[in-house]
Parts: sequence; C-alpha cells; structure tokens
Amino acid sequence: MQNTDPILPHIDSHRADLIVLSDRVWGMPETLYAEYRSCAEHTAVLRAKGFRVTEEVAGIPTAVLGEAGEGGPVIAILGEYDALPGLSQEANIAEPKPLVAGGAGHGCGHNMLGSAALLAACALKDWLEATGTPGRVRYYGCPAEEGGAAKAFMVRDGAFADVDAAITWHPNAMTKVFDAHSLANTRIDFTFTGRTSHAAVSPHLGRSALDAVELMNVGVNYMREHMPSSARIHYAYLDAGGTAPNVVQGTAKVRYTVRATDLPGMLALIERVKKVAQGAALMTETSVDIKVISAVSNLLGNTPLEEAMQAALDGLGGIAFDDADRAYAARIQATLTAEDITAAYRRAGVEPRQGEPLCDYVVPRTAIGDKMMGSTDVADVSWAVPTVQALVATHAIGTPGHTWQITAQGKAPAAHKGMTYAGQVMGATARMLFSDELLLARAKMDHRERLARQPYVCPIPDDVTPPLQPRPAAE
Ligand SMILES: [Zn+2]
Repeated sequence: MQNTDPILPHIDSHRADLIVLSDRVWGMPETLYAEYRSCAEHTAVLRAKGFRVTEEVAGIPTAVLGEAGEGGPVIAILGEYDALPGLSQEANIAEPKPLVAGGAGHGCGHNMLGSAALLAACALKDWLEATGTPGRVRYYGCPAEEGGAAKAFMVRDGAFADVDAAITWHPNAMTKVFDAHSLANTRIDFTFTGRTSHAAVSPHLGRSALDAVELMNVGVNYMREHMPSSARIHYAYLDAGGTAPNVVQGTAKVRYTVRATDLPGMLALIERVKKVAQGAALMTETSVDIKVISAVSNLLGNTPLEEAMQAALDGLGGIAFDDADRAYAARIQATLTAEDITAAYRRAGVEPRQGEPLCDYVVPRTAIGDKMMGSTDVADVSWAVPTVQALVATHAIGTPGHTWQITAQGKAPAAHKGMTYAGQVMGATARMLFSDELLLARAKMDHRERLARQPYVCPIPDDVTPPLQPRPAAE
C-alpha cells in the first residue's frame, strides 16, 4: 500500500540539499563545543530555507535555532553535528584507514543526525505553509552531545521553555522506536595535591598525589560489589603526576563517570565516590578538589508519542536498501565478530538472523531488547517536554558505536537512505502532532504524570558552565 502521508513530497523536495549537508559535515569533523564550521553549515541552510534564525542559543556559540510557522503548538526537532576524537577514517572502505592520523571522525553518525533533523524541519515548514496550519517547527542545532551535555545546559537556560514536544533520532543498526532507557551520568574530576620530594633521598617528606589516585581507584573498585548492578562507574587518568619515578608526584588528577538508572540513585552513588576520594586523601595526607564537569539525566519515555512514532514507522515500512548497500554492509560485517552481530539483535529484541547485513524492516514495539546502558543529553530535554526518538538503520548490523566502521559508513548510499527515512519518520510524527490536538494533549498528560511521580532536578550544579571552546582564527 502506498504511503500517502502529506509530509513525504516535502521531504523529497529538500532531500538532495540535506544529503549534501550531511556529507559536508562528515568532511569537517569537529568535537565538543568546537563545532564552529559544522554549526555555520547548518545555519547557512536554515537561512537559505527561510527559517528565522537565533544564533548562540543558551550562550553556546555552536548552538543554533531555526523557527518557521506562526501560532499553534511548538514542535522541536533536535539535531546534532559533533564528532569524536581519534575516529578519522576514509569513507566507503572496509578496513581501518584514517584520513588524518589521530584526527577526529563522525564515529557516531551525527553528520546524519543533524542533517536528517533539519530535513524534517524543512519539510514541516513547507507543509505548515502549504496547508495554513497554525504551528511552529523549530530546528535545534545542538553541539557537544559526546561528553558535553549541551542539551542539559540548554534546558537549564530555558531554551525549551515554550516547546510542546520534541522529536529526534539516532543512526543505528535497526529501525525502531527508542524505548527511552538511558542512564543518568555525571563526569567529575578529582584533583589531588600532595608535596613533591626526592623519592630516594627524602621520601618521608613527600606526600604522593598519585598514591591518592591509586588508592581512590582501589576503593571504588571494592565499592562496585556493593552498588546496584544497573549502575556504572568508569575512570581515566587525566594527570598521573609526571614521568619521573624518582620524584614524589605532587599533583594527580582522575576523571570519573558515574552512571545510574535515575538521578536520586546517581546522586547517592556520587556521595559514596566522594567519600572514597576523601578517604584516599586522608590516608595519603594529600588534599582533594572535586569538580563536576557535566551531567545528564536518564531518559523519560512518553507512551502516546512512542505509539505515534511507531505508527509513522509502520506506515513507511522498512528501508529499501539495494544489493550494493548489502554488499558493502557485508564487507563491514566481515570486520566484526559474531558476538558483535548477535549483540545488535539482542539490543533490539530481535531473533538473530544469518546473512542479513542491513535491517530493511521495522522492529515492532512488542520486541523487548536489552536496556541501553549508555547516556544521552536528549534525556534532559525529555524531562522538560514530551520527547520521542527513532532509531533508524544506517549501517551494517553489528557495527559497534564509536568505531572507524561507523565513520566509514557515514556517507554511503545506505546512510543517505537511512537519513532520508529518519527525516520522513520525524516529519510524519510531527505532522500528526500538528494535526491532532488530542494526541498532543495525551503526550503532555503522560509527561505531567511522570513528573508528578518524580520531579526533574537539573543534574548540573549551578556554578558549572559548558566548557566552551574559542572560535578558531579565520583561515
Ligand atoms: Zn551519538
């Protein structure tokens, strides 16, 4: 049966321009609040398409907002365009080969994420105009999803205060509604200060900050047995104090990420980690400075929106990949383990199948997959307004996130098909919200009920601001 959603012709008319944007952003990978060129590319498209543009949203130079339409409800479409360090990779091949040694790359597919969101916004703008429907569509160009929690800062700044609902997506192996599970997460730096000394001549006069970090890590590792198994704690050394073993290290710094299924659970765990740090300082006669870097909440679901998006997915059916798409995906799969591939099916709640390089169907909402144990800053938007996310197949089944394989597949024909489809599903879902007052009212009611059970508290301390990067000098 032919899908006759009136949003689809408008997607078709903007599709080619937004694929160009996606490929251009792929070619200028920028990380964590340094997305100046990528943001400028999105801003240029917003202006060319006739949106009312607001730059520096929430005081963040790489965040942009474009609005179109008049009156009615405000539907936000969220986009991202940040890349990851170390994932530079040549496109459309099936072996690791960086374009720039040690350079950044789009290893999470955010080049597609932002472009497809903007594609949906362009189509909705045209549809609102063509039908005279009251309503405003907003494209939010959000930077620094990877470790920067930009959306949480934007929520704190009130950027979503007058929004009625938000829609977004993420590139994935499977096509389905995101079942709205993610972990709340806080990044905290622990800086220990001791006293340097000659490690052989006067060790008794030194107090080692490195010892303190090591004892802290040992303490937290012992704590693991006695915390909820759904929580996660990770650490990385930012400063091990130096490279000379014959010097007692006077300073050392370790970054922790603490994750839990909800905010109260995370805050409780953070207090315990802080006690371990203080214990390590006490044992080593050093002092410790504790600084939160960023934080995000866990995702809040929204049943009416998830059902509406599932209807949009079912209306579209699976993505029509062709033999060339499958052949390339099969070559990527040859670089993966059997376990990578099985895990992708398990995450989606689908029975593993042999010889299926790409997902060309829609996973039903009844499929129960593994809970997503990562974190996303979309979560803070989901506490501010009713929010729903699609996962759309853009890469070979089993491709792990944040890998060279994701970068390699990021501007292949299959990726273009996936991002077009993502634009269609977000456009169709938003169109339902503009057309159906009752659906929007039910989504808001569901949101209010969830907040009544647990109110939102911004996980970022008041005195913490985003780690903005300076604008690069003009070339
Ligand atoms: Zn991502």
